[in-house]
Amino acid sequence: MTGLPTFKRVVEDFTCGFCGTSVKGKGYTNHCPECLWSSHVDVNPGDRASKCGGLMKPHSVVFTRSNYTITHKCLKCGKTKNVEAAPDDSRDALSARIKPGPIIV
Ligand SMILES: [Zn+2]
Ligand SMILES: [Zn+2]
Repeated sequence: MTGLPTFKRVVEDFTCGFCGTSVKGKGYTNHCPECLWSSHVDVNPGDRASKCGGLMKPHSVVFTRSNYTITHKCLKCGKTKNVEAAPDDSRDALSARIKPGPIIV
């Protein structure tokens, strides 16, 4: 016990609700690197505060500056969320969904 404030970084493994891939959690990534589907578990990234739990579809992908941004849409409640792609996300899956134009929030 050091008495220092602890920053809670949630690292957890999960099984993709769409394709069944076992995903090694890194603390920030909450989507599947193979199919890019996610689950609606966060209000803010990593907080696991959402009660929804619906599957989030990778609705579209745009390439901004130096990274891909994935727009997820929850199948259950319809909420959309933009997340940055992780370095180990499937480039094939990303480029298959890429759309030109600005991000629509
Ligand atoms: Zn998957
Ligand atoms: Zn939802």
